[in-house]
Amino acid sequence: MHNAAFDACGLNWRYLAFRVPPGDLAAALRGAAAMGFAGLNVTIPHKQAALGLLDDADESARLIGAVNTIRVEEGRLRGFNTDGDGVLDALRHDGGVRIERSRCLLLGAGGGARAAAFALARAGAASVVVLNRTPARAEELAAQLADAVRGCDAGAGALDAANVARWAGEADLIIQATSASMSVAMGGLGGRTPWLQAVAGALRQGVTVLDMVYTPRWTALLAAARERGATAVSGLAMLLYQGARSFELWTGRVAPIDVMRAALVPNQLDS
Ligand code: NAP
Repeated sequence: MHNAAFDACGLNWRYLAFRVPPGDLAAALRGAAAMGFAGLNVTIPHKQAALGLLDDADESARLIGAVNTIRVEEGRLRGFNTDGDGVLDALRHDGGVRIERSRCLLLGAGGGARAAAFALARAGAASVVVLNRTPARAEELAAQLADAVRGCDAGAGALDAANVARWAGEADLIIQATSASMSVAMGGLGGRTPWLQAVAGALRQGVTVLDMVYTPRWTALLAAARERGATAVSGLAMLLYQGARSFELWTGRVAPIDVMRAALVPNQLDS
């Protein structure tokens, strides 16, 4: 999607993928700056480690504790996190969601979940409840949210069927930010995962579900949402909008969203 966007804007730029072992991350980042790269994205498993290797990072990247976008500024590396804005844009533009005063249930407490939590709270959500397989990480995130954003109630708990049933029934927005749904897509955990079954069971008209996992575009959870009349927002929309924000940080130009969307889902525009 980035190469299509560069072409559409007449920029002689190229977006390339590099596989970097964790031990080589610092050298890779400095090497990119030395070779005149305009910027980079970093993804799993480097998002947290990269933050500590940069010259500077914006406030949201520091709050989240992870970067997904780096801009090279006169040889210095500056970090950003566009995942939170990606969540908000996907919900607003593809889900027609009003975030102000919404009650949010967040499944997961990793990097993607942390970005979503701070973005939703700052955008005026009434509450964000975080449920995670490792409850201590959910509690830590909720405590940080309560500290950082006034006026948003933060709660936390273990990711189990009872908690999901309790909180999903009250939620306007449900964000699936664990990597578990990916296993479902691959035929792994499937219907045997009680908490995922509980999420599906709580879906109803008026609720919006965003599944950050985007392979496949319509995960089992999103398929259940559509069947039950809830609004389903694909992780692919989040990927698109976080990418558009990165494009704008690197180039200083407005991202050609339609070009990027068409490049991302060439055969599935309406599916
Ligand atoms: P991460 O930091 O590694 O966090 C993974 C999260 O998943 C943690 O909360 C972890 O719980 C939980 N988890 C993993 N396996 C699980 C299982 N079997 N059952 C229940 N919980 C499980 O990863 P991340 O960066 O947040 O990414 C999470 C997912 O979102 C990935 O699939 C990623 O591809 C996707 N993502 C998509 C976008 C997008 O643009 N659409 C952007 C960012 C991320 P513990 O804390 O207990 O380990």
